[in-house]
Amino acid sequence: MSASARPWTSAPSSPRAVAEDLIVQRPEGLYCPAGDFHIDPWRPVARAVITHAHADHARRGHGAYLATAISEGVLRSRLGPITLQGLAYGEAVLINGVRVSLHPAGHVLGSAQVRVEHAGQVWVASGDYFTSGHTHDTNTTCVPFEPVRCHCFITESTFGLPIYRWRPQAELMAEINAWWAANAAAGRASLLLGYSFGKAQRLLAGVDASIGPIVVHGAVEPLNEAYRAAGVALPPTLRLEAVKDKALLQRALVVAPPAVLGSAWARKLGEHSDAFASGWMQLRGARRRQGVDRGFVLSDHADWPGLQQAIAATGASRVIVTHGYEAVMVRWLQQQGLEAGSFRTEFGADDGEAPAMLAAPVAASEAADQSFAG
Ligand SMILES: [Zn+2]
Ligand SMILES: [Zn+2]
Repeated sequence: MSASARPWTSAPSSPRAVAEDLIVQRPEGLYCPAGDFHIDPWRPVARAVITHAHADHARRGHGAYLATAISEGVLRSRLGPITLQGLAYGEAVLINGVRVSLHPAGHVLGSAQVRVEHAGQVWVASGDYFTSGHTHDTNTTCVPFEPVRCHCFITESTFGLPIYRWRPQAELMAEINAWWAANAAAGRASLLLGYSFGKAQRLLAGVDASIGPIVVHGAVEPLNEAYRAAGVALPPTLRLEAVKDKALLQRALVVAPPAVLGSAWARKLGEHSDAFASGWMQLRGARRRQGVDRGFVLSDHADWPGLQQAIAATGASRVIVTHGYEAVMVRWLQQQGLEAGSFRTEFGADDGEAPAMLAAPVAASEAADQSFAG
């Protein structure tokens, strides 16, 4: 064990007062008083347990990081030199007498829920997770979400409104393939926009690579390599800069982050159709506001039925809702007879599901309108 691992495995120091709640909210983020560590903190802290490598959950400046070993490569490439201990799923460490383990969240490569056990109490902080009403329709690019039994479940709620119900991924991929094939037949490129980490690889793993060549943006390929290194099968991909014969682009699927929309980079593709893959595409008007030809509803977050089933499967009698439609979800949970509340967090601002144009305030107001209009 390296010296860098010591902050996580040191013997318990002086006995601490057992806090009533295992995890509380602090200005710097979610905090476990008994173990003296934070979970996905947004301000610099001594010890941070990290659920996954998206920018709003994994930030710079913490003294020591604890995360899944699978996420180590992406975390290090995004955060630079950090003190990081990696855990296997289900492996436990004791932090000041608090037992901490990480469990699959099905969101992106290496994503985890944090299970915290102390003095007979078990709390689970979900981070972001993917599961849908189609229970067996899992995210195949990472270890699927596994419910963990607990007394209190801290859940995300990014798509916690009844309007969000994902269709089976196979149906969606068939739509994307048909769109790509039609563009290829017409001799134009298919620019498919999705976040570089997670969404892009899900798209790549799901498309039919026999339709044509697959070209990716330079921000996407390093993540592809991390997925391949973890044993996830992705079709061959080519950086745009490596495309010598421009005629090849006329049949190509081009996967790039949403930021390239309208950029000089996108103009290099010549004539093309563009599409955006995001859960927000379920909102009326989102595609039009984004200014793309097509919208595909593909999310790395749980839909409404997925959230409900995930929460029920924990057996928790108490639920704390974080980023998303907290009020709606809390009300629904209370109607089910559960003790429910919310934590105000700084998650979701840079979540990768939506570019700034579609970000929370606009989407939330529109979604709320749709949800409660009759
Ligand atoms: Zn995330
Ligand atoms: Zn998040």
